[in-house]
Amino acid sequence: MSTTLNHCRALDAGDPLRSLRDHFVLPEGVIYLDGNSLGVLPKTAAARVAEVITREWGQDLIRSWNSAGWFNLPQRLGDKIASLIGAGPGEVVATDSTSVNLYKVLSAALGIAAEDAPDKKTVISERSNFPTDLYIAEGLCRERGYKLLLVEPDGILPALHGDAAVLMLTHVNYRTGAQHDMAALTAAAHATGCLAVWDLAHSAGAVPVDLNAARADFAVGCGYKYLNGGPGAPAFVWVQPRHADRFRQPLSGWWGHAAPFEFTPDYRPAPGITRYLCGTQPMLSLAALECGLDVFGTAESLGGMAALRAKSLALTDLFIDLVEQRCAGHGLGLATPREHAQRGSQVCLTRKDGAYAIVQALIQRGVIGDFRAGDPSTGSGQAPSTGSGRTGTPDILRFGFTPLYIGFEDVWHAVEHLKQVLESAEWQRPEFNQKHAVT
Ligand SMILES: *Cc1c(COP(=O)(O)O)cnc(C)c1O
Repeated sequence: MSTTLNHCRALDAGDPLRSLRDHFVLPEGVIYLDGNSLGVLPKTAAARVAEVITREWGQDLIRSWNSAGWFNLPQRLGDKIASLIGAGPGEVVATDSTSVNLYKVLSAALGIAAEDAPDKKTVISERSNFPTDLYIAEGLCRERGYKLLLVEPDGILPALHGDAAVLMLTHVNYRTGAQHDMAALTAAAHATGCLAVWDLAHSAGAVPVDLNAARADFAVGCGYKYLNGGPGAPAFVWVQPRHADRFRQPLSGWWGHAAPFEFTPDYRPAPGITRYLCGTQPMLSLAALECGLDVFGTAESLGGMAALRAKSLALTDLFIDLVEQRCAGHGLGLATPREHAQRGSQVCLTRKDGAYAIVQALIQRGVIGDFRAGDPSTGSGQAPSTGSGRTGTPDILRFGFTPLYIGFEDVWHAVEHLKQVLESAEWQRPEFNQKHAVT
């Protein structure tokens, strides 16, 4: 039976999380399906950042490091993030960027590996991991004399049986939305004496994560995607408590010192996660991030991450069903797994050509998703991304569904617009075929 607009409206009316969207600024006429890239603005953020500027900075000045709690903000926000990722209090700090934090934890992991398993000389990751993760790993491997081995998803388990020292994976793939089984892969890595480092950029606030239950070793994640912390918001770091005091991260700045205000000439790392801080932290950005995190505090009383996950799956299921019912015959494929356990909070459609222009035409209509180019290096047997005969994965139209603020009626209208763009061949207009710097 085909789904109707009225059915979608009924789903919104019965949605226990519906009130959460009132916590965000959602521009008129926009259906925002890109919260996996840059989350929306929490309504409290502008006033909160203004207060930090006018009162805490403007009036209280340097006293605010103590009186406004600036100095401990990375730890305080870390505790708010911890509850979303199965970490305990005192195990997470909000700081720096995902790329920089990955450098710190991968470095620490290699330090442990060099002591515990000096013969193991390979870092394993996925070829389709987000490039910055691969670039950071490549640089560190060069510096430390390790080899970076990139594999396809089905090559991960076999690769562990070589001389793998560290397995570094992103939990939910940015391009396809496919989700790894964190507990199973971590256990498989540990069974061969390999450490597991997880990037939660597309997981934190989007899918339930339980780092301690999975016995993961290190994790990093992003503040400006599903956590709605604002452009360039501080990211976060988690270290398994049993490793936390064991290794120094290499960016041994004074904020990670055991007693920064003793101003001693020698470095002594702070106990626990605090040593993963480097220098003075951005208070305006942290204040904005806290506004995003506090919506999750409100969500907690409505069922928390379990309820958000149930809604996210209902939204992505609905989108897939509607695309298949209403946009059939237009050459769209599905890159995201149908299996719930293997799906993040986004849906990626494939198309042999025109993906970029279709996304541009949708943006013009107020339906904001994004385009990700196919991976020309991956021979997967799927359609090539251009007609030029090269092999590779096809280009992707990517749609993120943030359950905090996307509704079922939004999904209906997004698919209706997609249908119209395809049926009218509107996407072939020249203005939709010119590439911008940021896709
Ligand atoms: C978004 C994302 C990043 C972003 O890193 P920045 O340092 O914030 O630029 C890193 N890794 C993954 C897997 C991501 O999805």
